[in-house]
Amino acid sequence: GAMRHLPYFCRGEVVKGFGRGSKELGIPTANFSEQVVESFPSDIPTGIYYGWACVGNGDVHKMVLSIGWNPFYKNIKKSVETHIIHTFKEDFYGEILSIVITGYIRPEKNFDSLDALILAIQEDIEEAKRQLDLPEHLKLKEDNFFHLPEGKIVNNR
Ligand code: ADP
Ligand code: MG
Repeated sequence: GAMRHLPYFCRGEVVKGFGRGSKELGIPTANFSEQVVESFPSDIPTGIYYGWACVGNGDVHKMVLSIGWNPFYKNIKKSVETHIIHTFKEDFYGEILSIVITGYIRPEKNFDSLDALILAIQEDIEEAKRQLDLPEHLKLKEDNFFHLPEGKIVNNR
């Protein structure tokens, strides 16, 4: 399933999402454009992943990422959304987000309540933090990918 696509390197502009209120839940997700999403392998499973992320040429932070079905396109297209485990002073719409996905947590799920959803995401974040401290994942934080010029094509290198 997911593992054979990993690690997966991706870079693209942060665009406006569908305003599902992720930020109001305390878990803003930086959305990639449709074009970047289309560049992902079509058979990469939907679900929750983790890895490393960097905005512009800023610091590299831990992240959790969801690959899901995009409600805006009646769930025929995917969406890719990154929650960076860091507190930013400002929003960064229009900036270039670089990510490497290093691991998979779980498939997409439906939740009975908002509280259950938030709890699950908090557990995903804790799991991501733990996994990313392991040498196998930690080593990708230092990958040259994060120091390459922005224009360079890197998807699925
Ligand atoms: P949208 O529906 O436009 O994606 P969100 O509520 O998901 O709105 O908020 C996402 C935006 O919040 C990002 O595009 C980014 O500019 C900003 N943001 C601030 N902090 C973070 C963070 N830690 N992780 C991801 N995005 C963040
Ligand atoms: Mg979002």
